[in-house]
Amino acid sequence: MTHSGRCYCGDLAYEFDGPIQSQLLCHCRECRYLSGGLANASVVISEANFRWTKGTPETFQRDDLATPRVRYFCANCGTHVCVKSPPRPGMLVLKVGTLDDDTWFKPETAIFCIDQRPFHILPEGVASFERLPPPK
Ligand SMILES: [Zn+2]
Ligand SMILES: [Zn+2]
Repeated sequence: MTHSGRCYCGDLAYEFDGPIQSQLLCHCRECRYLSGGLANASVVISEANFRWTKGTPETFQRDDLATPRVRYFCANCGTHVCVKSPPRPGMLVLKVGTLDDDTWFKPETAIFCIDQRPFHILPEGVASFERLPPPK
């Protein structure tokens, strides 16, 4: 199945094909900055299955971290679309809010719940972890 999405202003658009590796809610401090306060809702997909269909994203990396994430966003409206994360080589972590159709999203795992706030309500049945789940 091919999924599509875009930034808020429409300068950027993308497509990707499944499979979806995981469906996440991340409560970490960094994600709270980037989401506006709530947990970040993301899917993990293979970078090889992803393509920009319109525009070229801007990137941001912190220069004070040893292995910073590469964040892709729209230079015009600022929408943060996806992240390349050194602990997940070959994968992209994509923001669910940028999908044209996000009705299928069903978080399986809540991570970094050590930073979870009382106003972060978890859907029932979501496995939650203080940090990351143990490696499979
Ligand atoms: Zn935009
Ligand atoms: Zn996070």
